[in-house]
Amino acid sequence: MAQRNTWQRERVREALTDAPGFVSAQTLHATLRDENTGIGLATVYRALSDMASAGDADSLQSPEGESLYRACTSPGHHHHLICRSCGLTVEIAATDVEDWARRTAAGHGFTEAEHVVDIFGLCADCAARRDAAGKSTS
Ligand SMILES: [Zn+2]
Ligand SMILES: [Zn+2]
Ligand SMILES: [Zn+2]
Repeated sequence: MAQRNTWQRERVREALTDAPGFVSAQTLHATLRDENTGIGLATVYRALSDMASAGDADSLQSPEGESLYRACTSPGHHHHLICRSCGLTVEIAATDVEDWARRTAAGHGFTEAEHVVDIFGLCADCAARRDAAGKSTS
């Protein structure tokens, strides 16, 4: 019974894998709707949160507080650099952050510390496009 929507979940998983970066459930749902899959938004939400809790997808909050998901290629703990304009995502290691987090937690007597560190910015392409647009209008 829990497997009732298996093909739909599989389609959500494929769509997430095809996405260039972090996407919201709404964005993914719109993609699937364009392909006439008939998959509902609630199913997309459910599939994404199940994938995130199973470790098959990374999830994070955008600066606007929206939940975003991505099928990451790096297994295990890592960080992200995300373009807030086009969504381009780069997976990064952050050795300094790991050391700092461990030291800081230990300094306060905390063990089993976890952290979430993602950097939002403007990618080189988007910055160049913005500069070009700025020049053409002035
Ligand atoms: Zn990731
Ligand atoms: Zn960009
Ligand atoms: Zn880390």
